[in-house]
Amino acid sequence: MKWLRDRLKKAPPPAAAPLTMADFLAQAGGEIAREMAQDPDWFRHLPYQGGMSQDQARDFEIEKRAMWRRVIHDAGRGEIWGLMWTTRGDAKVCPTCREQEGRRFAKDQLDQLAAQPVHLGCRCELVPVRP
Ligand SMILES: [Zn+2]
Repeated sequence: MKWLRDRLKKAPPPAAAPLTMADFLAQAGGEIAREMAQDPDWFRHLPYQGGMSQDQARDFEIEKRAMWRRVIHDAGRGEIWGLMWTTRGDAKVCPTCREQEGRRFAKDQLDQLAAQPVHLGCRCELVPVRP
């Protein structure tokens, strides 16, 4: 049984179950609900307007946030070097996001990236980058 004990000692901890899109949507739903509660007028403050009802905008915000979280999560598991924050580069970009334009986060900085504030109506994207 020594071989078995040795093997168990060397075995990596069991991997956490992979997160599904439903997990990201549930997490994003909570984040977005808290942010909307903080700004009851959030719908009027969105930088994109037109053609969307408030319910559609809420769902859109949740989907965007879920994708944001998922991209960061997947980057940590993928073969890429890291992610770069890109804004739309137009006049509607908020000052907080403008400061992040072009900022690169290597794989070992993804926790830092995940902790950066994101806001309702944010139109930024994270793109894979090389060093
Ligand atoms: Zn933004």
